[in-house]
This record gives sequence, structure tokens and C-alpha cells, in this order.
Amino acid sequence: MIPFEYLTPHTLDEAISLLDPEDPDIRPVGGGTAVMLMMKAGVLRPTRLVSLRRLEGRHGQIQIDQKGALRIGGMATLASLENSPLVRTGWPVLARTFRSLSNQRVRNVATIGGNLAHADPHMDMPPVLSALGATVIATGPSGSREIAVEDLCVGYYETVLERNELISEVVVPAMDGACAAYSKVTTRAAHDWPALGLAVSLRLEGQVIQEASVVLGAATDRPTRLAKAEAMLRGAAAEAGHLKQVGMAATDALDIVSDQHGSAGYKKHLLSIYLGRTVNAAINTSNKGADHDAH
Ligand SMILES: Cc1cc2nc3c(=O)[nH]c(=O)nc-3n(C[C@H](O)[C@H](O)[C@H](O)COP(=O)(O)OP(=O)(O)OC[C@H]3O[C@@H](n4cnc5c(N)ncnc54)[C@H](O)[C@@H]3O)c2cc1C
Repeated sequence: MIPFEYLTPHTLDEAISLLDPEDPDIRPVGGGTAVMLMMKAGVLRPTRLVSLRRLEGRHGQIQIDQKGALRIGGMATLASLENSPLVRTGWPVLARTFRSLSNQRVRNVATIGGNLAHADPHMDMPPVLSALGATVIATGPSGSREIAVEDLCVGYYETVLERNELISEVVVPAMDGACAAYSKVTTRAAHDWPALGLAVSLRLEGQVIQEASVVLGAATDRPTRLAKAEAMLRGAAAEAGHLKQVGMAATDALDIVSDQHGSAGYKKHLLSIYLGRTVNAAINTSNKGADHDAH
């Protein structure tokens, strides 16, 4: 292994100043779970790693702001989110999704900032957070900007972040009566990488869907909003025949790609089935409310 510097700044400003907008071999590290795998595989040979683990504690906090939005420090671990009473009560779909992601050892150290910045199209959180309308706060030398999670990934392992910008916060709007579900379809263990990830968030009035937000993961080169399916769901009841039609139409004009988890044809088939199942799961959770699972 080529020797590299490992720096442990204590403030966000200091961490940002140690990054270099021109140098791809200088990288921030949150939990390091993806960075270490990339180094082992030889696809990343850093000259400097800037660890975010010693940053002030406030960068790992989970709070609710005055508007009722969930504000998550970029360095909050996935385990802290999974176990947060605030998350489990107000955003149960997030708590459930965290639990299905990888294993406890990874979740104990992986951070939400590192998770969203990694931009592997198979990640579970980007579709869910996109469907909920979440944003990230990206902080760089000249200040902070807000980016919709939906606009963060622009391709395989590629984001709109500058090399000296850090995800300092993630903001998830209040559910405010919406119901949501995420289907993680795996071909091996339940917590494995998904062959298909589908997130649905709905606003209902009686039996009728008033608003629908549907985002697909693990099938295209980035999380993809299914606008046609959303339009077909709006103003309709979740009736089996209609959901089947929406599922078939959802695959239109999508550039679904094959990978080690399944062929493009298989993923298309999964999408056509899981669209209706995920809509029904979202509606069922609206009757159940908060996430009370003991684990
Ligand atoms: C065995 C295993 C199984 C897994 N299974 C799944 C799975 O089923 N589903 C799933 O979604 N994921 C899965 N993962 C991926 C896991 O979710 C990610 O590795 C993890 O979330 C990355 O977070 P991290 O803090 O460790 O990031 P790091 O490894 O520290 O960093 C990842 C990337 O983000 C950059 N970065 C880190 N922090 C920031 C920041 N605050 N701002 C800007 N850039 C930053 C780094 O430079 C690097 O490019 C798995 C990982 C492992 C090791």
C-alpha cells in the first residue's frame, strides 16, 4: 500500500481546509466502510485521508427543527438513526430501512454523510430520502448550499459535490400525514445489496391517492423518479387492477441496467410487481403509525 496521511481535524472548517478541490486522491472519511473497501480493491489510492470522526459532537446530532423537519448531522451513524426515538416515531420508514441495510457492524460506524456521498446506485437510503423530499446541506470553503438528495447523484459513484465540500447535514421534511414504504428486493440474504429498491410516499384522502412520490434504486445508474407512475397514481384509488397497470407502465422509457444482482429483464419484472406491493405497504403503514419493532 502506498503511504498516505491520515488527519483528524476537530472542526468542520479545518476539515474542509484540508481537502483540495483539484486533487481526487485527497478524500474525507466518515465511517470508512466504503473507503476501506475501495482501498482494498485498489480503486482508491489516497495521498491524504481527512477523518471526520473527531469533529465536534453536534455534527452527529439528530434533532427536530421548528418546522417539524428532521435535521441529521452529517456524521450521525446509521445505527444512531435506526435507534433514534425521533426517527422511529416521526419517520418510521427510515428506521425500517436502516435496519435492512448491511449489518450492525457496518451501521455502527457508517455515517449518513458518507452514505449519501458514496453514490453507489445500489444504496438503499437515496431512493427513500428522495421520495421523502429530503435535502443535504453541503458545506465548503465559501459557505453552505442546499441540494435535494434527488439531485445529488449524477452517475456511478458520482455526485454534484465539489471535492472540498462536505455533507454537513441532512434535512427530512415532516411526514405531515404522508405514508411511506420502501421495498428492498434482494436475491440472497434480506440485508444484502438490493437487486431493486423502490420507495413510495403517498398522501391519501380517504381511499384516494392525492400525491405520490415514487423513486427507484439499484436498477439505473442513479436513483430515478418514476414520474409516469406518480401521474397515474395521483387521483386514483389503490385498486389491484390499476396498480398492475401502473407497475407495467413504470418500466417505460427507463434505462434499466443489468448487474450481478439481476438482469435488466428481471429488474423490469420486479418493478412491475413491486410497484403495487410498495403502494399497498405504504397505505398499510398509515394504519400502523410509528415503528415500534423491538430488535
Ligand atoms: C459489507 C457491506 C455491506 C453493505 N450493504 C449495503 C446495503 O445493503 N445497502 C446499502 O445501502 N449500503 C450497503 N453498504 C454500504 C454502506 O452503506 C456504506 O459503505 C456506508 O453507508 C458509507 O458510509 P461511511 O460513513 O462509512 O462512508 P465512507 O466510507 O467514510 O465514505 C464514503 C464516500 O463518501 C465520502 N464522504 C464520507 N463522508 C462524507 C461527507 N460527510 N461529506 C462528503 N463526502 C463524504 C468519502 O470520501 C467516500 O468517497 C454496505 C457496506 C458494506 C461494507
